[in-house]
Amino acid sequence: MDASHMGDDLEKVLFTEDQIRERLAELGEEIWRDYEGKDLLLVGVLKGAILVMADLMRTLPGSVPMDWMAVSSYGSGTKSSGVVRILKDLDTDISGKHVLIVEDIIDSGLTLSWIRSNLESREPASVEICTLLRKPDAAKVEIDCKYVGFEIPNEFVVGYGLDFDEQYRNLREIGTLAPHVYS
Ligand code: 5GP
Ligand code: MG
Ligand code: MG
Repeated sequence: MDASHMGDDLEKVLFTEDQIRERLAELGEEIWRDYEGKDLLLVGVLKGAILVMADLMRTLPGSVPMDWMAVSSYGSGTKSSGVVRILKDLDTDISGKHVLIVEDIIDSGLTLSWIRSNLESREPASVEICTLLRKPDAAKVEIDCKYVGFEIPNEFVVGYGLDFDEQYRNLREIGTLAPHVYS
């Protein structure tokens, strides 16, 4: 991997740094309004959501705590199965708190619907979801996502936290990979 030529591996840029920043600012405003006076906890899902979390939380004008979960989803590589194992649990007791799950992308929605019901069983005051990206397949499972950055076509995307084989997470924009990367 030649890190200096990462951008050459993209076929198409879907969202630039500026577009992402502007959309997150809009979502942040909405979130701040909706959770006014509430005990809000942001819960990120590692690793993909690190940049969404970092940039979204900095749009909020007041102090908000965050926590992280890491899960592994058993599946055939690219498709998730919905069978989930917790690799790292929250450090925080969420009972009575208003939890907002922060995600990079929802594809099938299976992973997130598992995480959501797992968190709901811990008796928080509420659980909602904020995702930067959502694919059309996500509509197949009943997953109510309160804040969505962008709806995208059913294509594999990388950048801004999203990886292909652990690469490209540090790309500043979001795009699709050129065919030569896969071969
Ligand atoms: P789901 O359970 O919703 O099918 O998939 C959830 C996870 O699959 C996401 O959190 C993400 O890690 C990964 N994923 C789904 N679609 C994409 C994609 O287009 N690009 C990348 N890099 N990861 C994806
Ligand atoms: Mg994710
Ligand atoms: Mg991945």
